[in-house]
Amino acid sequence: MDGLQIRYDIKLSAGDYVSTKAWRDASLEACPNHPDGGCSLARHGTYGRKTPAGARVARWYCPESHATFSLLPDCLAARTPGTLAAVEAAVAGPCCSSRCRPACASPS
Ligand SMILES: [Zn+2]
Repeated sequence: MDGLQIRYDIKLSAGDYVSTKAWRDASLEACPNHPDGGCSLARHGTYGRKTPAGARVARWYCPESHATFSLLPDCLAARTPGTLAAVEAAVAGPCCSSRCRPACASPS
């Protein structure tokens, strides 16, 4: 699972986020479950996002609380239901079939 998603306050477009591999610069200064420190919070690799192509999200793991934390940049976090269709149309192109845009593929 992706675990808890934390906002990564970075001023990049989704395209720039991918081209600069900005997830490599992500840092989580304190464990959300242990804000005063004392746990063994460590980088836990990255996971890929389907769109935009090539995007990855940095992830951390706190063994004491068995929790993972993902640092999700604004440009990807903005993909909420209200804006999803527009974002997909802008960045995804031919991927949009049944799953991406329910409006154009709904069986009902
Ligand atoms: Zn912790």
